[in-house]
Amino acid sequence: MWEQEVFYQEADVVIIGAGIVGLTAALNLKAMDPALRVCILEKGHIPTGASTRNAGFACFGSMSELMQDMGDGHRAEVLETLQMRYNGLLEMRRWVSPVKCQYEPLGGYEIFTSDQQALFSSCSAEMADYNGLLKDLLGISDTYSLRDASAFGIRTELPLIYNQYEGQLHPGRLVTELIAKASQAGIRILYGMHVASIQEDAGTKVRLSCENGASVLCSQIIHATNAFSNQLLGTEDVTPVRNQVYVTEKIEGLKLKGCFHYDQGYIYLRNVNDRILIGGARNQVTTEGVETFGTTEEVKQILQAFLEKYIIDHKVDFEAEWSGIIATGTSKKPIIKRIDQHQIAACRLGGMGVAIGSIVGREAASLALS
Ligand SMILES: Cc1cc2nc3c(=O)[nH]c(=O)nc-3n(C[C@H](O)[C@H](O)[C@H](O)COP(=O)(O)OP(=O)(O)OC[C@H]3O[C@@H](n4cnc5c(N)ncnc54)[C@H](O)[C@@H]3O)c2cc1C
Repeated sequence: MWEQEVFYQEADVVIIGAGIVGLTAALNLKAMDPALRVCILEKGHIPTGASTRNAGFACFGSMSELMQDMGDGHRAEVLETLQMRYNGLLEMRRWVSPVKCQYEPLGGYEIFTSDQQALFSSCSAEMADYNGLLKDLLGISDTYSLRDASAFGIRTELPLIYNQYEGQLHPGRLVTELIAKASQAGIRILYGMHVASIQEDAGTKVRLSCENGASVLCSQIIHATNAFSNQLLGTEDVTPVRNQVYVTEKIEGLKLKGCFHYDQGYIYLRNVNDRILIGGARNQVTTEGVETFGTTEEVKQILQAFLEKYIIDHKVDFEAEWSGIIATGTSKKPIIKRIDQHQIAACRLGGMGVAIGSIVGREAASLALS
């Protein structure tokens, strides 16, 4: 009885998942209506999705990725997502200051290796046009320009394409601060609550039942479960894909500062103080279409070989490694929609939830109250 009256008491809105989307959805709901009873159910003992396991790129678009997406014939969708990414990064500041999430405006860079001369030529030829496009779309000038790769210790003769408006942050601090803000706003967060099923309750409400036997009653549910959405929302177009991340030992005199993308962002690297974080390469192997965490020797070796060939001129060891699961689908746009009178889906954020998560959270909150 005591637990039922406090921890598991009825809520107006229950959010499944305490990642960036779940937390910002909850904060928006409370900002829209402070009297609302908002509860987040998280299956992990801490948030255990991509929000705490990502690379911390506060980025909105490398040239080759944008050009590829545009070329695929989804121009309107690409521009809409680009706008969401840029605005999402600004909107996140409403909840977390740059200082609190250790944001550093070091810029984003795209690396081109010698075998990518043709790709580099087409990107650099379109740079002025893309700068014009972003000026019209986002009101920002001279987004892209060329930089000398050797200034960062990168061994390629081709210049880097620099995006001056990008930066990097500490994902753990970002989520911790969102949790602190949620607690201050009176949002109830329950951990270890793996929602296993949802049933109608007397027609007007729904009950979420968890694997541990506990349940919570509510009127509205927001599914902020991203790559894990298939379990409860099996009909949506969400494909989980694992991404592995490795962090090197300290590197004396490291010149690489900022966020770097290679191969349309399939490989990404950044400095974390005087270490390098490198991740990705999921397109080069067949093992990553899974929903389970884990690292593999194959991916580790691809990333290590890339580092040693282009970035560091000696052998480096990794001191930390982990993986996270991203959500992909046939479209790069996130799913934000009402499913029925009680449920909203806010998921499939691809590899860009740091950027768009706060907007997805806000839009989901608006839907829950509409
Ligand atoms: C390795 C990696 C690197 C990335 N790098 C970047 C980057 O640099 N920049 C960028 O913009 N994006 C990046 N991303 C993507 C970004 O991290 C995600 O898009 C974003 O964090 C998604 O946030 P979310 O809140 O939607 O989902 P998540 O953070 O995945 O949260 C979903 C939550 O739901 C919980 N959950 C799931 N099912 C249930 C259930 N049944 N019951 C209860 N709880 C449940 C999970 O435990 C999880 O905490 C990266 C992702 C990965 C994996």
